[in-house]
Amino acid sequence: MQAHWDDQFEGAARRAVQSVIDLDAPERECPACAARFAAGPTKCPDCGLFIGG
Ligand SMILES: [Zn+2]
Repeated sequence: MQAHWDDQFEGAARRAVQSVIDLDAPERECPACAARFAAGPTKCPDCGLFIGG
């Protein structure tokens, strides 16, 4: 039961992240600090969160 709930939570979280990070967009928004930056760097220039990969 607990494992099932975890799976559902992870799926929802994953979809939420994917909705924030559009790899085809010319501009990205960091899901952690909401900083906007041009696509290219795989790390948020503001907080250093790794994005992509
Ligand atoms: Zn950030």
